[in-house]
Amino acid sequence: MYLEYCIDFYRMKHDDFPILFELINNNRLVYLDNAATTQKPQAVLDAIVHAYSRWNANVHRGVHYLSQVATQKHEEARKKMAQLIHAQLDEEIIFTKGTTDSLNMLAFSFGEAMIKEGDEIIVSQLEHHSNIVPWQMLCERKKAILKVIPLKEDLSLNIEAFKELLSPSTRLVSIAHVSNLLGIVNPIEEIIRLAHEKGVPVCVDGAQSVPHLKIDVQKLDCDFLAFSAHKMYGPTGLGVLYGKKKWLDKLPPVEGGGEMIEHVSFEKTTYNVLPYKFEAGTPNYIGSYAFGQAIDYVQQIGLECIAKHEDDLIAYMEKQLAEIPHVKIYAAGLFKAGAVSFNVYRADGTLIHPFDVGVLLDRQGVAVRTGHHCAEPLVNHLQVPGTIRASVAMYNTRNDIDTFIIALKRSIMMLD
Ligand code: PLP
Repeated sequence: MYLEYCIDFYRMKHDDFPILFELINNNRLVYLDNAATTQKPQAVLDAIVHAYSRWNANVHRGVHYLSQVATQKHEEARKKMAQLIHAQLDEEIIFTKGTTDSLNMLAFSFGEAMIKEGDEIIVSQLEHHSNIVPWQMLCERKKAILKVIPLKEDLSLNIEAFKELLSPSTRLVSIAHVSNLLGIVNPIEEIIRLAHEKGVPVCVDGAQSVPHLKIDVQKLDCDFLAFSAHKMYGPTGLGVLYGKKKWLDKLPPVEGGGEMIEHVSFEKTTYNVLPYKFEAGTPNYIGSYAFGQAIDYVQQIGLECIAKHEDDLIAYMEKQLAEIPHVKIYAAGLFKAGAVSFNVYRADGTLIHPFDVGVLLDRQGVAVRTGHHCAEPLVNHLQVPGTIRASVAMYNTRNDIDTFIIALKRSIMMLD
């Protein structure tokens, strides 16, 4: 029954992504690098051409027809983002260049307003560099202290240790909802609840969760959420920083220029209202429109339906990987959204370098990611030079997983 549903689902969706018909090294492309970036459906490609061909004009400052159409499309896209994550207000959606930009913007703005010497910020051992370095830079600027939630043996977050880390000096907790390296889903509701009990706001790095899980920021009660369009079938160069209005109102702008001002004089400049206060310069209105089309596309299928399909693929992949001798799956058995990381060892116990496996998979048309996945502190914790990560999206199939597993077994035979 489930398979039948899947076959229809594949037929319908796989064909919508033109790049999936590319031959890589004379093989059908099996794209399993979706945690890095997803491929784009025809609807999104068409949206970009349509926007530039039919209504391109700069937004917000024109009285002419095209400028008004462009402004309307851009603001409609903002509304779609707000609906996607169930934000209370459209003005809580700030367009950025991506998750990295969102987190840097927050670190700078929050840092300026709220952080002083000796204050503490908490991140975790499994963060992406984008959710480490901006906070580290802030701590250097302000002589604040970065604290790190350690992992338990099974690589899940040590929540007991987190409780101990929360102190009267804690000013912010910033945590990934889903680990980009391990794919595991962190207990973000519990983290938010514990932090809020101490009056500490929480920023959620949603780069890997918004594309895979249904996010409701009001239910989660997170104070900030960052995500990227390109990881959810949208274009590159666009992201979102969500923030509760009560916080965004308090925080200063980060960049100065057009759009973000109310009045400018050499004596004093006053700032625009939300969200424009944080959006200096010409925004990526073509990108926001195209991402809006990606969200429509996803919602036509249904995020829950996609999540069910991806969960099936991950379970199917993890089961098959576990049956290959000398494959070590990280965080095996823990609930994952979208990605599995592993390494391969020889019979004598030595590690086969993940790059070597990645190169041989590529020769067979299978695209996976190898290396530290911008999570060096986690890779160091695992005491390996890197891992192999296979990550799925809605257009992947069980057939893709079978092809990947056959290619992996062949690669291991060559490298063992
Ligand atoms: N955070 C996580 C968990 C990620 O997986 C990524 C990208 O892989 C980022 C942040 C950075 O996203 P971007 O490169 O789109 O800014």
